Amino acid sequence: MGTLLEIDRLSVEFATAKGDLQAIEDVSFSICAGEVVCLVGESGSGKSVTSKAILRLIDDENGSITAGSITLDGIEITGLTQDTLRSLRGKRMAMVFQEPMAAFDPVFTIGSQIVETIRRHTRQCTANQAWRQAVELLRRVGIPEPELRMKQYPNELSGGMLQRAMIAMALSCDPELLIADEPTTALDVTIQAQILQLLQDLKTEYRMSILLITHDMGVAAQIADRIVVMYAGKVVEQAATKELFAQPRHPYTQGLLQSIT
Ligand code: ADP
Ligand code: MG
Repeated sequence: MGTLLEIDRLSVEFATAKGDLQAIEDVSFSICAGEVVCLVGESGSGKSVTSKAILRLIDDENGSITAGSITLDGIEITGLTQDTLRSLRGKRMAMVFQEPMAAFDPVFTIGSQIVETIRRHTRQCTANQAWRQAVELLRRVGIPEPELRMKQYPNELSGGMLQRAMIAMALSCDPELLIADEPTTALDVTIQAQILQLLQDLKTEYRMSILLITHDMGVAAQIADRIVVMYAGKVVEQAATKELFAQPRHPYTQGLLQSIT
């Protein structure tokens, strides 16, 4: 399996009113094509910053990469302009967040927003084709009566439905890498399991590469091929899931594992 994403000794700082804040330091890990990698660690350990750095979304928050590199399929992301980045986002990598409301504009219907994304990314795609494709995507992510949902506004969908719609939106550009930052945290347990199942299906059906961020080791155990453990802005351990569970090396990982058994 070829390496799709390679993060090498990455450090990120934020310029804040209190001075520069080092959010992550010397973070290295990679994702092979078709692999699900889970990034775990307690709140504030740097998981979101790491994932946002991959899409260079930290630029919008006064953040900057101060050392290291991120390479997606041979393209070094670290030095790209925002224009070039925009074309990579969506097409090659897409992100879903904990809060699906943030992904949608409240004044447009779900359908029009997905159609718009599809048309932006697929040249020579008619409105009709895009509409049909959007309906298919909604069906694919397990939304019942997709034709009806297309015409609804974000606030008319339940949290779980909206989360599925956001995943559909992310998939609408056929990305190679899906980054999901705590996509199930805001949902109740049954819906959480369904969304995880959906991610698992995407992996098996499309061989999609997924970076899943979670603070829940149980979730990681269920879906990850490999687990990367972060603590205080650094990667303290990484290993194949089975190996990590059988033989956690770092005391922090050992503690994490105890908390779920
Ligand atoms: P996690 O996702 O693991 O909970 P984050 O990646 O969000 O943690 O945060 C890591 C560290 O970076 C925290 O100390 C947080 O306060 C800091 N941080 C994150 N975003 C910003 C920002 N926009 N400005 C300043 N500091 C930030
Ligand atoms: Mg986070």
